[in-house]
Amino acid sequence: MAASVLDCVFTLPCMQEALEKLVHLQELEQQAQALSLQIAQYTGRVEVREAALYDTGRLLEQIATALAKESSLRRSLELDAEDMREKSARYRIQLDDARSDGQVKALEHQLKFCKKEIDRIDELEFASLMETEALEVKQRLLHETRANQMQLLETEKAKSQLGRDRDKVKLAELYRQRDEARQAANPELLAEYDRMARAHKMPIATVEQQRCSACQMMVRPQRWNEIRQGAVHFCESCGRFLYFNPAIDLSDAMHLPSAPKKPAGLAKDAAHPKPTGSDRPQRED
Ligand SMILES: [Zn+2]
Repeated sequence: MAASVLDCVFTLPCMQEALEKLVHLQELEQQAQALSLQIAQYTGRVEVREAALYDTGRLLEQIATALAKESSLRRSLELDAEDMREKSARYRIQLDDARSDGQVKALEHQLKFCKKEIDRIDELEFASLMETEALEVKQRLLHETRANQMQLLETEKAKSQLGRDRDKVKLAELYRQRDEARQAANPELLAEYDRMARAHKMPIATVEQQRCSACQMMVRPQRWNEIRQGAVHFCESCGRFLYFNPAIDLSDAMHLPSAPKKPAGLAKDAAHPKPTGSDRPQRED
């Protein structure tokens, strides 16, 4: 495995500094990634507003179609009613001239039918008018909604444009810093970093409480000591660079204040002084 070779090559005092440069590189790349995501989200937010506006437009089209249908229905009902009224008028004239009871009965029956039909048509016309009124109320509300949505869309577009412009400047600066960080990095470590970056989102994991922060695997005691002395090691489980940051891992610092105050601990600590060779606080395993 490449890791074992690297262990030999990179167990040097200056490696901590080299690794810190990679940590800085990873931070810059993460910031750039977050910013790229934010830039993409501006477009997404505008698209959401556009979709809402489109939906309202579709509903308005449906209402316009329904209104046209109702209007056409009423025109047709009006013609039917007119037809019935003309027939009624004709039957009444015929009734005046009727000679037999049979003729009178038949004409009266026709007149009754015409009246029933006219009443039925009136009811249908009334129902259509009610439906039209309800549709017009919906239409008015949707017009208001659409006006609001158009305003929101314009605002969102303007906000997005401002945000995108600002973030693109920031992103360009991050890319510049990233390129600088890559230039400054140790070429061998950088090659390893790139290889790992292709497999993981974050090639470097911190060691906290003797565990790899990415996969939570315990780091063996000897490696743990070497890492804290500046050696470069890789996680035996996930393969990431392991980086010790005393500011994050406070397990060492936690031992410091308690040691001189405890009478029992004093003797023990005196017998086993803290390891030297590093100005960082060290923890015994
Ligand atoms: Zn790991």
